[in-house]
Amino acid sequence: MFEVHFLEQHCKGCGMCVAFCPRKIIEMAEHTNDQGYNPAMVTDVSRCTGCAICAMMCPHVIIEVVEGGAA
Ligand code: SF4
Ligand code: SF4
Repeated sequence: MFEVHFLEQHCKGCGMCVAFCPRKIIEMAEHTNDQGYNPAMVTDVSRCTGCAICAMMCPHVIIEVVEGGAA
């Protein structure tokens, strides 16, 4: 299992992570952050492969993919 952490308040809502996730499990949230952007979020983390493409594509480097503890 992996965990995908977003620094939500720093997300600019550009959608790069959404476009490049091979599993298509990232979406924009319906709420907005303090900057007025809809932040990205993972919908079904159980399907995450830990590829970290989302983290590499984020222009603002606010995504961290970590291996979770107990599965
Ligand atoms: S690590 Fe890979 S599979 Fe998981 S959310 Fe990011 S791009 Fe998608
Ligand atoms: S790539 Fe980064 S800034 Fe763009 S929507 Fe995803 S988390 Fe937000």
